[in-house]
Amino acid sequence: MRGGRVIVVGAGFSGLACALALTDAGAEALVLEARDRVGGRTLSRPLPGGGWLDLGAQWIGPTQDRMYALVAAYGMEIFASPAHGAPTRLLDGRPAGGEPAGLAGLLGTLDELAVGLDPAAPWRAERAAEWDRTTLGGWLDANGPDPVTAGYAGRLLAGGLLAASPDEVSLLQMLFYLRSGGGVGSLLGMAGGAQQDRIVGGPAALARRMAAALPPERLRLRSPVDAIAQDAGGVRVHAGGEVHRGDAVVVALAPALAGRIRYDPPLPALRDGLTQRMPMGAALKVHARYPEPFWRAEGRSGVATTDTGPLTETVDNSLPGLPGGVLTGFSYGAQARALRRLPDAARRAALRDALVALFGPAAARPEDLVEYDWSADPWTRGCFCGSVTPGSWCDYGPSLRAAVGRVHWAGTETATRWSGYLEGAVTAGERAAAEALAALGRAPRFKENLRYVY
Ligand SMILES: Cc1cc2nc3c(=O)[nH]c(=O)nc-3n(C[C@H](O)[C@H](O)[C@H](O)COP(=O)(O)OP(=O)(O)OC[C@H]3O[C@@H](n4cnc5c(N)ncnc54)[C@H](O)[C@@H]3O)c2cc1C
Repeated sequence: MRGGRVIVVGAGFSGLACALALTDAGAEALVLEARDRVGGRTLSRPLPGGGWLDLGAQWIGPTQDRMYALVAAYGMEIFASPAHGAPTRLLDGRPAGGEPAGLAGLLGTLDELAVGLDPAAPWRAERAAEWDRTTLGGWLDANGPDPVTAGYAGRLLAGGLLAASPDEVSLLQMLFYLRSGGGVGSLLGMAGGAQQDRIVGGPAALARRMAAALPPERLRLRSPVDAIAQDAGGVRVHAGGEVHRGDAVVVALAPALAGRIRYDPPLPALRDGLTQRMPMGAALKVHARYPEPFWRAEGRSGVATTDTGPLTETVDNSLPGLPGGVLTGFSYGAQARALRRLPDAARRAALRDALVALFGPAAARPEDLVEYDWSADPWTRGCFCGSVTPGSWCDYGPSLRAAVGRVHWAGTETATRWSGYLEGAVTAGERAAAEALAALGRAPRFKENLRYVY
């Protein structure tokens, strides 16, 4: 069909949502995916006795309306994250009854600064230049009541949200992210927050159902896109030795990966510069499987946070109705990179030691430790998402979503709400579909149950 063929690069949630929106609107979408599977940063591993582990994304929470709508539309179910027992906290290496003094005030100040920010244009904030050149770590050191509280907040925020160290991200990037995800409580919370619910079977299963809703010939796996050319007549997308022609292309990848594609004509300098200044985070997510959730018998929730050692936080990831217990730990930024530099046996020993420091000797002998190195995966190269480096938002930010001729940009990093999350991936894909259709002179027309208002 002339005048309505859009090529979508990437079959993560963003590319799939984009292709579905295009198809619903009557356009012809062709999705080119590098891997032999869909789902991108979601990946589940089945467990021998039933159940599964989510090696990538796993949670959804309130206000992530498109994700809940997709769960319902594709006949999936959700269950609540476990919520019983008390959290565990180590401060300065010692058990602590409550949060560090002054933490709530410090986080509240960040929320207040974030509220005034336009998540679609953080560079327009009155103090954008100052916040852009200030690292989150520097700001916390200057504004925190003491070094322990500042260090703890840095690990939770830079680590838990952006999978980075506090000195790797700017205050402006942090404020953008807080604004995009509804504030500290919404982003860090379990019940009532972003970690509230899980999808039965994992989000990767939802991605497979979304893909199955596309006409089969509209999705090509094992098709890594290496070059995109455009001219007045249309686009030519080179993938796996084939050339696909269309009227527009939506690149549904993190900017760091979008920058590895060759463009003809070359991308504008600022857009290419953005792809050089939005590195992926470094998170190590590890599942420790035990015969039973022993921490519950001790009145503990399995939710732990610590300012010491390689792990920053853990959660109880046991599946309801199935035997066995799962503690899932997260390491971020410099600590995650240090773990990755270790040989396998030493890394696993360090992870076990970190779990023992939090949960005692019962944590010493998990049946299994399961991890996946997203940084080593050539089609992801790090997680949870890309973050703009300090000093770069003001100059390069305006290029994040701006189409380059017939090339449109999706991927969770381009979202204004829930950027970095599955929800952001979906809304970004749908926004790019609407944008491509509008550029081709077609009004977007979504199915009622998939309607989204931008
Ligand atoms: C360990 C981990 C935990 C996370 N936890 C959560 C969570 O609990 N909740 C949440 O909401 N989010 C979470 N996230 C983030 C979430 O996974 C992402 O925001 C989301 O999956 C991004 O989707 P996307 O479609 O934008 O990008 P991707 O999922 O990265 O999709 C991009 C796709 O493009 C493909 N690709 C790459 N290069 C090319 C190329 N040249 N040609 C063709 N195809 C290409 C890739 O293979 C991939 O399939 C987590 C991520 C990780 C890794």
